[in-house]
Amino acid sequence: MKGIERDVIVIGAGPAGSICAAYLAKAGVDVLLIDKEVFPRDKTCGDMITAGMAKHITTLEAADKLDRISVFVNHLLLVSDCGNEALIPFECYGTKRRELDALLTETAMSWGAEFRQGCRATGLIRERGRVCGVKILEGGVESELRCRMVVGADGAFSFTAKEAGMMKEEPWAMSIGISAYFEGVHLDRSIAIGQYSAYGAVFFDRALAPGYAWVLPSGDGGVLHGHCNVGLVIDYTDGIREGAPTPEERFASWIGRSSRAATMLSGAKQITPWRRGKQTYITQNTPRTADGLILIGDAASVMLPLKGDGLSAAADSARAAADTVWEALKQEDFSGLFLHRTLAGHSSQPDPAAVKDQLKRRRLIRESLMDPAGTDRAVQRLRGNEALAKKLLED
Ligand SMILES: Cc1cc2nc3c(=O)[nH]c(=O)nc-3n(C[C@H](O)[C@H](O)[C@H](O)COP(=O)(O)OP(=O)(O)OC[C@H]3O[C@@H](n4cnc5c(N)ncnc54)[C@H](O)[C@@H]3O)c2cc1C
Repeated sequence: MKGIERDVIVIGAGPAGSICAAYLAKAGVDVLLIDKEVFPRDKTCGDMITAGMAKHITTLEAADKLDRISVFVNHLLLVSDCGNEALIPFECYGTKRRELDALLTETAMSWGAEFRQGCRATGLIRERGRVCGVKILEGGVESELRCRMVVGADGAFSFTAKEAGMMKEEPWAMSIGISAYFEGVHLDRSIAIGQYSAYGAVFFDRALAPGYAWVLPSGDGGVLHGHCNVGLVIDYTDGIREGAPTPEERFASWIGRSSRAATMLSGAKQITPWRRGKQTYITQNTPRTADGLILIGDAASVMLPLKGDGLSAAADSARAAADTVWEALKQEDFSGLFLHRTLAGHSSQPDPAAVKDQLKRRRLIRESLMDPAGTDRAVQRLRGNEALAKKLLED
């Protein structure tokens, strides 16, 4: 390979890319992280940081910083189409993605990774079929960067995956969501639990089917100032029908129907415009490795269909990829086969049978989200039944 400049280039400094770069740099690997955006930047998200993600932040010694930019949520209020409610125990951080993603790039740099922002990957460089560099556009100037390995972490419908021919033309399990920040949201204090506790609300409503909406306190002071992430996600696995309402139109009809949501948001001010985002889910056929290349996070569609925590899946895949890259560098073997086998050994991803089961169960959930009476019955069953709620969330 001629003119190698770096051991590893990671394309995309979202949570997957930054965490992978941080673990690699921590292990002493020379790593360059690039992102087309200039940070801090926003990203469509519900801002729920679950334990699976928080554990990586702790391992990377940034837990105290996460605490400072987050509100700790310990319950979810589920509201059904008919207005029935259940308050169930659920723990997560509410952290603005703008701040979380900036924190993670700083963490990667603190371990020794170099970060170039405003640096877009425009192509992959190959020699004898193996990926060995990235074409970039930075400050209006095109250039090439050579490396031993590339990690593609550039999010859903990844440019890297397309460029490497790894994006399958199969019907993807996909959702589209919107989110925005509001301030002055009325988080009913009569159901807040204790001085430092907070709850987020999740709404099921026929105007959202098949999907759901949320109101989640986010960022330090989220509860105090009613500072919330408000959003919704709709399942579009079957494609978007012509003339179907947009997510923004669905939001308006949901607020018109849900008195609980309308009360929470009455007098609240929307302080950022709606942002749209797409989420892909794991399928049995998603390839993750090629010669000299590993895909991680949303770029590899690692999220399980029934889980709302894409961030945990992204972080787990980043850790597994960092361990795999480290072994590839040690063994000087960058073949897709070696990467595939080593990644499988490090990855906590479920086997194909488990994925098939998840996809089947997702279809069932989708059907029940289409049935307002069914979600209402489920919410009523969950009310006061902590054991059932725990089981549901663990599954
Ligand atoms: C509506 C919605 C709500 C969600 N809510 C939650 C939630 O509450 N909790 C949760 O855990 N998950 C949630 N998710 C999922 C979560 O947002 C993703 O799983 C997570 O962002 C994946 O991280 P990532 O690093 O793989 O990709 P991303 O966060 O998308 O980061 C990709 C990065 O790559 C960069 N990039 C893209 N192309 C290029 C290029 N050509 N060159 C250089 N850089 C490039 C982008 O600028 C970006 O910074 C939600 C998703 C959606 C759509």
